[in-house]
Amino acid sequence: MSVRFVIDPIEFVNNASVHRDKIALRELMRLRDVLFSDEGALNYQIRGHVDSNGRPSLKVSIKGDVSLICQRCLNSLVHEVAIENDLYLAKNNAEFDRVNENNSIDAILAVPELDVIDLIEEEIILSLPISPSHGDNQCDPYQSGLNKSSVDNASQSTNPFLALAVLKKTN
Ligand SMILES: [Zn+2]
Repeated sequence: MSVRFVIDPIEFVNNASVHRDKIALRELMRLRDVLFSDEGALNYQIRGHVDSNGRPSLKVSIKGDVSLICQRCLNSLVHEVAIENDLYLAKNNAEFDRVNENNSIDAILAVPELDVIDLIEEEIILSLPISPSHGDNQCDPYQSGLNKSSVDNASQSTNPFLALAVLKKTN
C-alpha cells in the first residue's frame, strides 16, 4: 500500500537527476510511531551531483511541519522539519566506515537499489529532538496529564491515562 521510489544512486548522480515529490506522513511507518498525528505531508527533493571535492553525493531537502508528542503534557507539539543534507555515496563498507570517521561528512552506502522514501524517513527521524516538549509553562494546563485539577475533571477528558488515574483513586 505504501509508495516506494527506488533509484540506483550512482546512475542518479551520473545523470544529475532531480526528483521532487510530496510524501504523506501516514506512509512513513517508523516516523508515525513518534507522531501525535499522521495528518499532512512533507515536501522533499533529492538531487544527484558531484560535490566540490569530486565526490558523488545526494543532496536531500525535506520541508514541512510534523506534530510530535510533548513529553510533558502528551499533547501535540508542532515541529518544523527543514533538512538540507548532502550524503556522500560510499562505494563499499570499508569506504563507508572510513568516511564516517570524519564527522563533517554524512555517508550512505551506494547500494544499487536505494529506497528513497526509506532514506527520507531516516533523515527525518535523525533530525527530530530526542525529548520534544513545549517551552516552560507553555503546556496547556487543562489537558496536561500532570495537572492535578484536570484529574478531578477527568470525566470531561478523553485522556486514557487520566481516566485510569481516577479509576485507581476510587478503588
Ligand atoms: Zn506540552
